Amino acid sequence: MEKKEQLYEGKAKKVFATDDANLVIVDYKDDATAFNGEKKGTIAGKGVINNVMSNHMFQLLEQQGVPTHFVEQLSDRETVVKKVSIVPLEVIIRNISAGSFAKRYGVNEGIVFDEPTIEFSYKNDDLGDPLMNAYHAIALKLATREEIERIKAMAFKVNEVMKQYFDTLNVTLVDFKLEFGKTADGTIVLADEISPDTCRLWDKTTGEKLDKDRFRRDLGGVEEAYQEIMKRVMSK
Ligand code: ADP
Ligand code: UDP
Repeated sequence: MEKKEQLYEGKAKKVFATDDANLVIVDYKDDATAFNGEKKGTIAGKGVINNVMSNHMFQLLEQQGVPTHFVEQLSDRETVVKKVSIVPLEVIIRNISAGSFAKRYGVNEGIVFDEPTIEFSYKNDDLGDPLMNAYHAIALKLATREEIERIKAMAFKVNEVMKQYFDTLNVTLVDFKLEFGKTADGTIVLADEISPDTCRLWDKTTGEKLDKDRFRRDLGGVEEAYQEIMKRVMSK
């Protein structure tokens, strides 16, 4: 596998072409941003942790019947994935109130829902990733009705698998963001990453936050929290 020209540099990852038109290499950085890029910093070792953890999650999900973009880990920061055209929606699943949900509806964090919720944001930094419903996404031709239905079903399945898995690590899965993509043949697969950058993870016993909220909210112990999650993920 030959790493060729850089196709894209995002806030947390770089994407490189390869000698295979259907494959790209993602390279995870230690850079961290929050609040649509307003807050910037680095989290030492984050790139390695997010790469290894994402790949672990993608392999677990594949075993449970969820197709993903994962192909092969190349190094501690680099992974070969199927090149997809990303559906420009951030798909957010919540099991417990937190973050923008708590703020928007004026409720406390920590309310355990009877059923998980799903919401979409339009993946558009210039507009600040506005909240969007399925009709809006279809109207703007971001996805078809069938693709939205497929994405919803896959996202809830991912939640079931991940909720159970994190429970065995004594971690509560509060909420998370997913991205989906379309392969050359039109198949919808889970893409991007699954990491403490994109999930809220609370220690089940102490309630301690083991995710990017430590960075967003200046809680300290950011690196330690990422390492703690990595340690637990590598144990199972
Ligand atoms: P951002 O673009 O939000 O700053 P990143 O720094 O994580 O995010 O950059 C990675 C980019 O690669 C994102 O735009 C993401 O949607 C995209 N991406 C993720 N997986 C794939 C894939 N399999 N094929 C093509 N692009 C992908
Ligand atoms: N999230 C993400 N990228 C985003 C926005 C949200 O990965 O651009 C994740 C975030 O880490 C959390 C979940 O999606 O696990 C829900 O985030 P929320 O809407 O509460 O937003 P935030 O608190 O980041 O404003």
